[in-house]
Amino acid sequence: PTRYSPVHPMANVTLRNVRKTYLGGFEAIKGVNVDVGDGQFCVLVGPSGCGKSTLLRMVAGLETVTGGEIDIGGRVVNQVEPADRDIAMVFQNYALYPHMSVFNNMAYGLRNRGMKETEIKSRVDEAARVLELTPMLERKPRQLSGGQRQRVAMGRAIVRQPKVFLFDEPLSNLDAKLRIAMRVEIRKLQRRLNTTSIYVTHDQLEAMTLADILVVMNGGQVEQVGNPLAIYEKPATTFVASFIGAPPMNLMSTRPEEIRSQLTGGAAADAGILGIRPEDFVITDQTPAGGVALPLTVEAIERVGAETFVYGSREQEEQRVAATPGELPPGEIIVRIPGTEAPAIGAKIRVAALRAK
Ligand code: ATP
Repeated sequence: PTRYSPVHPMANVTLRNVRKTYLGGFEAIKGVNVDVGDGQFCVLVGPSGCGKSTLLRMVAGLETVTGGEIDIGGRVVNQVEPADRDIAMVFQNYALYPHMSVFNNMAYGLRNRGMKETEIKSRVDEAARVLELTPMLERKPRQLSGGQRQRVAMGRAIVRQPKVFLFDEPLSNLDAKLRIAMRVEIRKLQRRLNTTSIYVTHDQLEAMTLADILVVMNGGQVEQVGNPLAIYEKPATTFVASFIGAPPMNLMSTRPEEIRSQLTGGAAADAGILGIRPEDFVITDQTPAGGVALPLTVEAIERVGAETFVYGSREQEEQRVAATPGELPPGEIIVRIPGTEAPAIGAKIRVAALRAK
């Protein structure tokens, strides 16, 4: 792997009680506090309309801030022009100039700043090497694949050597396979460059795999901030429990008190609600000590190779809690089992969650 050691200064990004009310009075951001450490990769994730793009655009300076402070590298930038914030943004549509070569696309911003050609060439060549675009520098964007265009868009951000990278759903125009490949590339690149990054996506898998620090947003507010696996293990709210993880966590009201006291692993913290991940169930007739067992009728089966998802309906008196976004119909439980197994549709089975504390 190539080494790349730009001389850009490091920076942390701090959002202090940030608010946004759009003209007309709609409050899109309702007081957000986030601290992104120097060199960290922060992902803002949440459903459509939760305000993640608005928040990113405020950091970029593309939207005014109507309350609170945005601090980049120890400087409050609320009143600072986008061009003077020392950030570089990568957009989902790449925004490449179609008539310019790859080299000139990457050089464009630097030329605008009046940088010397020798310095421009050295920065573009270096970024092209890191991104494996060297053989394509003379091509036009239309002569590139989607993934290569995405890398040019990244290159344009890298050559600026900014304090902070901002990504606005950069992979959403790519097909599923390329998305995964680019996701890995972006993570490797960020590790190598070690530049503070804020990345917006509505894709929870992308969020889980990229983030050092994950910010789950809903309705203009932060639901939970933290390490992605910690959030997966201990979602703070039912919204987070149902949004992070696919298929989502099974949520049930904890009518039997003994279950609630015994089975806390993977449980959502909202009062009276128990959460169990599909992978924490097994099909068994046993009721494990300290665990929970449920009778289910198999309604549907999804076999996806390495794993099988069993959709079962529960007894009437054990209804699921009211639906939150991304949730399943009431009464349905999803169980993940190995791909080699599959009960019959209509079968009566018992499942148990073994994970208990
Ligand atoms: P998506 O994933 O669909 O892009 P998002 O989480 O990025 O969603 P935003 O684009 O930040 O959401 O929008 C947040 C809310 O603010 C939405 O309800 C949206 O309708 C509203 N909004 C966005 N831009 C404006 C605007 N210029 N004027 C008024 N309301 C706006």
